[in-house]
This record gives sequence, C-alpha cells and structure tokens, in this order.
Amino acid sequence: MKTSGIRKRTRRAIYDFIRERGMATKNDIAGALGISLPTVSKYLTHFMEAGLLEQGAKLSSGSNGGRSPIAYACVADGRLAVGVDVTQDRVTCLVVNLERQVLCQRQAHRDFARSDDYFAFVGAEVETLLADAGVDRDRILGVGVAVPGLISETTGQVTYGRVIDNYGITAADFGRHLRFRTRLLHDSDAAGLAEFWPDHGVDNAFYISLSKSIGGSVLINGEIYRGDGEFAGEIGHLRIHQGGRRCYCGQNGCMDAYCNASVLARHADGSLEGFFSRLGDGDDTLSDVWDRYTSDLAQAIHNIRVLFGCTIILGGDVGAHIRDHMTPLRSKVDRLSFLASHSETFLVPCSYTTQPVATGAALYLVDEFRQDLGPGQPRAGGTSGRALRKAVPLASY
Ligand SMILES: [Zn+2]
Repeated sequence: MKTSGIRKRTRRAIYDFIRERGMATKNDIAGALGISLPTVSKYLTHFMEAGLLEQGAKLSSGSNGGRSPIAYACVADGRLAVGVDVTQDRVTCLVVNLERQVLCQRQAHRDFARSDDYFAFVGAEVETLLADAGVDRDRILGVGVAVPGLISETTGQVTYGRVIDNYGITAADFGRHLRFRTRLLHDSDAAGLAEFWPDHGVDNAFYISLSKSIGGSVLINGEIYRGDGEFAGEIGHLRIHQGGRRCYCGQNGCMDAYCNASVLARHADGSLEGFFSRLGDGDDTLSDVWDRYTSDLAQAIHNIRVLFGCTIILGGDVGAHIRDHMTPLRSKVDRLSFLASHSETFLVPCSYTTQPVATGAALYLVDEFRQDLGPGQPRAGGTSGRALRKAVPLASY
C-alpha cells in the first residue's frame, strides 16, 4: 500500500476508534490499534486543529497522584452537511451533523420549474436556513440535492424524470446558486441511505419509498446496488395487475398506480394525515381502501422478498404512518409466501419518519466525509455532477 493509503487508513482507524467508544486516551488508541504514541499524537493534533476532536474530561490515573491522562472525543458539529429535498410542490432543506442529528430545517411551498429562477430560489432557501440558524459555513461539507428521477453515474444528468419535468438537469444547475460542493441524488437512494446507515447493522435490504410516486433502493452486501442501467430497485414499475390502471410511465398495472400515497390521500381531501386519522377512527370506507391498498402492497413485498431474500423497509410518506398497521399487512404477506417464514422477521417500518429524503441527501456527504476522512478543511465552492456512488462502502463501519 502507498504511504498515503496507510496514512488515510491510520487516520480513519484513530477517528473511528474514538467515535465508537465516545472517548479515548492516547494510550487507549496506541494500545488497541498497535500504533506508536508519537504517531497517535500527530494525528490527534491534526484532528484537534481541524475542529474534529476535543479534549474531554480528564480520567483518573489511579496511580499515586500522577498526571491524569487526557481523553479525546469527537466533535459532533465538527462538520455539517446540507440536504435538500426537491418535490413537485415544495422544497425542504436541513442541516445534519456528523452524528446524524438534524440541527435545523426549513420548508417552502413552490412548484418545481425548469428555470434558473427556480434553482436560484432553492439556493436562497439554503442561504436563509443557514443565516437564520447561525450555521458556521466553514464547517459545511456540501449540499446534497435529492430529486425524483434516475441519475446517470457517468454524466450526472437526470436520465428519467417523469415525476417532475427535470430530465437532463445536473448538480451544476443547483450548484450555480449554492456556494458549496453540490451533489445530485436520486430521492429513493437518499431515503434508503438514511435507513441503511451502517450503525443499523443491516447488510442486505430493500427500501420501498411509498410517497407521491413509488421508489426503491437496494442494499447488497453493504453497498447500494444500481444495476447496469441505473434503474435497479425501481419497484414502482413492477407490474402487479395485468392490464390494470394506467401508470405515469405509460404502462398499465404498475405498482405505482396502486400504492402511491395519492391513492390513499384522494379519499381524504388530499391529506394523507387525514386518511390515517380517519382510518384509526374506524371509517368503513377508508378501511376498504386500506384493505385493497395493503393487498397490492403485500403482492409487491412478496415479489421483492422472493427476488432478494432480504430485509424490506417500508418508507416514504405512507411508511411514516404504517407502524401501527404492520400486523395485518404481515399476515397478508405471509399468506403469499411459499415458505413457512414469518414476515415479522424481515418486514419493518422505516426509522426516519420525518424528512427521510433531505436527511439522506445530507448523510450522503457525511458518509463521503467518513470514507475520505482527512484532517483538512472542507473544500469551498465548486460543483460536481456525480451521482450517488454506485457502491457506497457502508459495510466498513
Ligand atoms: Zn409504471
């Protein structure tokens, strides 16, 4: 391995050791990682200067009143990332720190438009959020902008954008109005990334986003799988009814036409919250709608389970309300299974019930930072059209 590779590995090992334990002394690190004390000291100094570590409480030495060793802890706000969720009718932006805590957020209603005015509006929203919350701009790693639509790994362009009219846009369209590095992300991958976060201990999973449109994200052996055509996981277009309802893609019978959030909300004056509230109150009409909806959803879940044999996470707008309805849904899934296995072992509601897309878009940059960990300051300015990495190396954490 090249010297720079060894240095990078050593840096990461020291930082991760402290982060996982919450606090560690120089001797703890040197002993556990087999690194010399002078080398540990050198990196600790770098991290301190970069604002990534702080000295914690002094621990008792327990030895004849000698000097207490100094413990080091990671600074949660040492770096920050901005996530933006762009949808048909609103823009949500928020800031997360290295511990995945959302520090502040802001939402504005505005219809998406393919225009520089719109991109400037998104930039202004981010600037207003940062100014109102008094965020230290020097700590910002970048901005992750999540949009509905498939994104090319090679060109960074949206290659399929029928949910909103965003075909062909790139990170640079937004980046011109953001004074930070900008990443463009597929919204389902962003939400999936939040759920797949390595601390959750899942290596194989399929995330279903049940929002105004249906999306999916696949995690295999700890890496997000995009397939050869960059559309792997687009579960919304799984055909569940031959010759069924028209889908926005132009085909008939797709899961999207049966399981997007609007299928429910349209029965409650367009309000998904209203739907679940009345469902909870025992409304007979909505109970019938929900019964049909969950039968279709169970069909899709069964198909995914057969293909991938992995944990299936129900997310998106409907997933945020589904926790109290899991038992009957699991029964429907079990009735379709050819195995004796019970879906309670693999079918789970999402953990992120508020702003999963914007949070995941920001976490992409946190993950990137952890992977490329260095003591230097984040680069300011510039844009990149690079899409979500084909292989986000999550398993190493
Ligand atoms: Zn379709």
